[in-house]
Amino acid sequence: MTAPIRLAVVGMGKIAHDQHLPAIAASSNVDLVATVSRQGGSVEGRPFFHDVRDLADSGIAVDAVALCTPPQARRAIAEYAIEQGWHVFLEKPPGATLAEVVALRDAAAARGVTLFASWHSRYAAGVEPARHWLADREIRGASIIWRENVRHWHPGQDWIFEPGGFGVFDPGINALSIATRILPRPFFVDHAEIDIPGNRASPIAARIGFRDAAGAEIAMDLDFLQEGPQSWDIVVETDAGTLSLFRGGAVLSIAGGAPADAAELHGEYPGLYRRFATLVHAGTSDVDVAPLRLVADAFLRARINRVADFDW
Ligand code: NAP
Repeated sequence: MTAPIRLAVVGMGKIAHDQHLPAIAASSNVDLVATVSRQGGSVEGRPFFHDVRDLADSGIAVDAVALCTPPQARRAIAEYAIEQGWHVFLEKPPGATLAEVVALRDAAAARGVTLFASWHSRYAAGVEPARHWLADREIRGASIIWRENVRHWHPGQDWIFEPGGFGVFDPGINALSIATRILPRPFFVDHAEIDIPGNRASPIAARIGFRDAAGAEIAMDLDFLQEGPQSWDIVVETDAGTLSLFRGGAVLSIAGGAPADAAELHGEYPGLYRRFATLVHAGTSDVDVAPLRLVADAFLRARINRVADFDW
């Protein structure tokens, strides 16, 4: 039996508390040895530090860190962690730019540690069955509708509207992490419109038109001001009927069949930690930048509209 990975969690905000800590507590693959955050206090009686340098200086044995900060803060911490010889689990999106993620991948390879650019939505229960079913189909078109209320899901998280915070692409990139996993052909940004509030730097809504390599259209609609029912849905039209993934990939319906509500979204993070442990034990990395590349391309291709100011 292999010893658990001694892991420190860095950036003790919403996702660290909501998902990482419960998944780590339930995992036999990882042990929480410390937490790191500029503010706050210790968790479960474990040592607490304000900075990863203090963690390194403490002499506590650490094998890996999970970085749960916003993307703008991630590269510098990841670079330092790799220098320490720690394996690194990156929350999504893996960085604020493509080049920094590629540099981290190369640094991890040179140092002989694992870098895991995680995409939690790919671990939703319907995603792998959808991928298998779509693998042999002719794709005629798809639509991605990701509309949520930012005030409810990201209360007061100003970083999300700062440069490099991704705005509505913070949830939207989850949709693209699923689409790039389940659709059998690569797809590209054809046209895009991005709405940015007058008093903010990052988008509050976007409409992207993609085309796949065979010309099929994939329309994506992102909105951060959705009232009422929230949508995290992907619908794919094929020669054998319609495949629908609802609730961020958790619920799958194929060709009119009853939706299979396979599992709660909470299943995603246990799956991520199993994957991380597998990568660490195999001595490999998993750094897929495809969803980040499509977001970057949307910004390259987009008409930018300035829209009404946004306040919490
Ligand atoms: P959050 O609640 O704002 O937490 C992020 C934490 O990172 C903060 O509590 C902050 O703690 C720390 N931090 C370090 N440097 C920072 C900086 N420069 N600016 C702001 N905070 C900084 O955000 P979150 O929702 O947990 O999201 C963090 C990451 O997880 C994002 O990349 C997001 O996409 C991803 N994620 C979020 C969710 C979700 O539902 N919220 C789901 C999946 C993935 P200190 O001030 O104590 O350092």
